Amino acid sequence: MDDRRRHSALPGEPGQAPSVAKDMENRIRQARPHVTRNEDLIFEVSSPGKSGVELPPLDVPTVCAEELLGKGLHRADVEGFPEVSELEVIRHFTRLSTWNYGVDTGLYPLGSCTMKYNPRINEVVASLEGLATDHPYTPESLTQGCLRILHEAARCLAEITGMDAVSLQPAAGAQGELTGILLIRACLADRGNPRKHILVPDSAHGTNPASATISGYEVRNIKSNARGCVDLAELDRALTEDVAGLMLTNPNTLGIFETQIREISSLVHARGGLVYMDGANMNALVGVARPADFGVDVLHLNLHKTFSTPHGGGGPGSGPVAVKRGLEPYLPVPTIEQSTDGSYRLDYDRPKSIGRVRAFYGNFGVVVRALAYILANGPEGLRQTTEDAVLNANYVMSRLQDVYELPYDQACMHECVFSDRRQAARGVRTMDIAKRLIDYGFHPYTTAFPLIVSGALMIEPTESASQAELDNFIEAMRSIAAEIEEDPPFVLKAPHTTRISRLDEATAARKPLLRWKPE
Ligand SMILES: *Cc1c(COP(=O)(O)O)cnc(C)c1O
Repeated sequence: MDDRRRHSALPGEPGQAPSVAKDMENRIRQARPHVTRNEDLIFEVSSPGKSGVELPPLDVPTVCAEELLGKGLHRADVEGFPEVSELEVIRHFTRLSTWNYGVDTGLYPLGSCTMKYNPRINEVVASLEGLATDHPYTPESLTQGCLRILHEAARCLAEITGMDAVSLQPAAGAQGELTGILLIRACLADRGNPRKHILVPDSAHGTNPASATISGYEVRNIKSNARGCVDLAELDRALTEDVAGLMLTNPNTLGIFETQIREISSLVHARGGLVYMDGANMNALVGVARPADFGVDVLHLNLHKTFSTPHGGGGPGSGPVAVKRGLEPYLPVPTIEQSTDGSYRLDYDRPKSIGRVRAFYGNFGVVVRALAYILANGPEGLRQTTEDAVLNANYVMSRLQDVYELPYDQACMHECVFSDRRQAARGVRTMDIAKRLIDYGFHPYTTAFPLIVSGALMIEPTESASQAELDNFIEAMRSIAAEIEEDPPFVLKAPHTTRISRLDEATAARKPLLRWKPE
């Protein structure tokens, strides 16, 4: 094996594909031990009496901690903190930080998540003093700039979606869904026609039925047709008079645009229901198509996906809800309004509102980043972004479909979904392929979703990937397919180049050990 190849599968060198090697030994030797391998816990580095800082002696009267904190809050028995030098603590956490894989290190093709690059200008803007430090209780007269940002962001999102009004309050997509369905419920109750069911296609994201259920509805699943889309005949049958609405993702989770969306919305409306759109896939539509134009009554957006705020690891996110005029009276309070003199104010006087769904006005910092992204791109840029995202997904799809099965064989939008059927015949499933992809320096794609594809490989490159990067990814995926032909057990044991190989994921999720305790 030549030297170049020996380095090729090292972690931290995204996209370097090793060829199919002859035996496992060789391949495992490609990984060199690294200084960060097997990092001890900070508690294990600890030795009694060490200290990272040396404080000068107190030259003011000692105030009893109990007096300062109040009774019962001061404990004398706290022990077990790590005792380390400044250099030890710096090295420890700096090394740990290099274990991360993020959008800034390489391609992150996690389908349905839109892991696009987060432009640094967003961070600059969000950290401006007046924006980063303004208090939510600041009187309206002193915080006109922040209110204007919220108002402008809502206006831009209304324009992008074609809708009439927007609430920026929900903290994430799932909470936007909940809010949107509560708006439908409030509206139908107001019409004196409360209904019991929400229809959800079988390809939906799990949060859809969850949101409908939490909102007090019973969920009815509708089966997708052979194209992976809503089946009009099936929808027609399911649309009984107790159906409040349809929750639809467009493009759907297969990355396929619902071309019959107008017929679908007309049918739902004709039966007295409303159309909710899960807008998590708006990266396929922004600047090209507006949900309002194809009959959507209410949708949520994921600012942390489509509009570039960093995400993953739990937040913060933002899931604004956009509605047609008829649903506007029910929006959460407060709404942000512009008075005739041009000033901005918070409007709490909305008798039909569903109330608050979150403290204050939403995740302000996320909205600032999204607005920066929208303004930096402008209308042309946003459209270009969408077109590039769709082009990239189709490029990946067309260059992998001879090695991975494409269950719904048609042009895709911003993501494509393969099945592991061919590889499963050799005992290798989508999760195994995803684990092996880590050895090639890529973050895995989404596994096992959507549920209607057996053993799904869901790939969303986003517009951020260059062609060279996509080519590396494609080569890695093709190389893994070849490895599976040659040596399935090798792939089943991947990843080989990480510090820890296969984790027991079920136990990690069900019985996580989140706190270190001395033995
Ligand atoms: C991400 C996603 C959601 C949920 O959004 P969060 O912001 O993670 O709560 C809902 N539907 C689809 C299709 C998604 O991809």
